[in-house]
Amino acid sequence: MNFAFTKEEEAFRAEVREFISGAMTDEIPSRWLGGLLDTPARQDFVTKMADKGWLSIGFPEKYGGTESTMPLAQYVLNEELHMAQAPIVGKNLGVVVNTLLHQGSEELKQEFVPRILRNEIQWALAYTEPDAGSDLANMQCRAVLDGDEYVINGQKRFITSAHFADYMWTGVRTDPDAPKHKGISLLIIDMDSPGITITPIWTIIGERTNDVFLDNVRVPKERLVGEENKGWQYITEALTYERFAMTSIAPTVRKFQRFVDFVKETEVDGKRLADDPVVRRKIARLSVLVEIGRMLDFRCVAMAVKPDYVPYIEAAMNKMWGGIVETEMSDQFLDILGPHGYLWKDREANASEDALLDGDVADDYLWAGHQRVAAAGVDISKNIIARRYLNLPSS
Ligand SMILES: Cc1cc2nc3c(=O)[nH]c(=O)nc-3n(C[C@H](O)[C@H](O)[C@H](O)COP(=O)(O)OP(=O)(O)OC[C@H]3O[C@@H](n4cnc5c(N)ncnc54)[C@H](O)[C@@H]3O)c2cc1C
Repeated sequence: MNFAFTKEEEAFRAEVREFISGAMTDEIPSRWLGGLLDTPARQDFVTKMADKGWLSIGFPEKYGGTESTMPLAQYVLNEELHMAQAPIVGKNLGVVVNTLLHQGSEELKQEFVPRILRNEIQWALAYTEPDAGSDLANMQCRAVLDGDEYVINGQKRFITSAHFADYMWTGVRTDPDAPKHKGISLLIIDMDSPGITITPIWTIIGERTNDVFLDNVRVPKERLVGEENKGWQYITEALTYERFAMTSIAPTVRKFQRFVDFVKETEVDGKRLADDPVVRRKIARLSVLVEIGRMLDFRCVAMAVKPDYVPYIEAAMNKMWGGIVETEMSDQFLDILGPHGYLWKDREANASEDALLDGDVADDYLWAGHQRVAAAGVDISKNIIARRYLNLPSS
């Protein structure tokens, strides 16, 4: 099996790298994997890519896309952006555009896709609620049709990007009497609508997500994606895209490569870390785990480019393995660095000039918990694999 990219894709990769090295400023990199488009500098950076036509590659011309002979162009672009800690385009393109093209009405496609491809609008994905996380189908945020509008009441939790997004891609309950998977719909809510209150939730690594409260928020019924009460199907499709279009092995590869360089260069008591047999064994083992992650990532995107194929199983395997490797890797890095690994460089707690690798190792360790849980992490992905791939009974 040949996993190589085509010459055209490799040429595109070189072009993207050149662009990133020219357009990158200190303001752009983000600690948050897949960086948020939350500042003018980050938005301008992505708009420059849109101006080059890179966000449109492979999408239908009818909606502002350009035909392409590079099926993996979007993957290559996201991979390079991840490697540079630059904002990725996986949410807007990978999740919203892909799901809209499959499930949205012609009017919604016409209204939103061209603007997304030009990076004119930003999105928040709003599924989670205080009592609907892993058990997402339990969502209670209520939408009642009143004339030509839905009226929405409820709360969404951990809604990243809500504080700067233009639109919220929102799971709502439209039929409280139906079985829970069958009473959900997917609505696009304008963030300027009266009745929306957003309050910050600060993560353990100092990045922002949000609670969003909806109080009699009115949404035109044309903003329904697909059919009423079929939202669960669309949300599971969108979440599948999220598991490889937003979540990537690339940041893990970047951290691993950085750490390998570090152990080659760093001496402790006059001896290079790379010469320590325990360190070498740990690193060698991790390299295999990371490589398996790359293979699962490739498998996922290779399947995703098949027409009308949604890679539910491949994406669940990819997401599960990504969470496991991140956890294992950050654990081993801390182990190798000993007490120095727990130091931060620029935080009030534990801040020290002696922090190694810019103090990122402690953050990565804390952040691995998020990787294991968010957007169907390790446990929920295992459930999906057990049920859908192995046909085991539901737990
Ligand atoms: C920083 C951050 C950003 C986020 N951004 C967004 C966003 O933009 N939009 C959005 O909609 N959501 C977002 N989320 C929410 C995220 O997807 C949820 O945290 C996730 O779905 C888990 O839900 P929960 O936090 O309620 O945990 P719980 O569901 O309470 O799970 C707790 C633990 O129990 C395990 N568990 C739960 N049920 C099972 C089961 N049946 N079998 C085995 N194990 C199980 C879980 O795997 C987890 O380890 C974000 C979360 C975080 C932390």
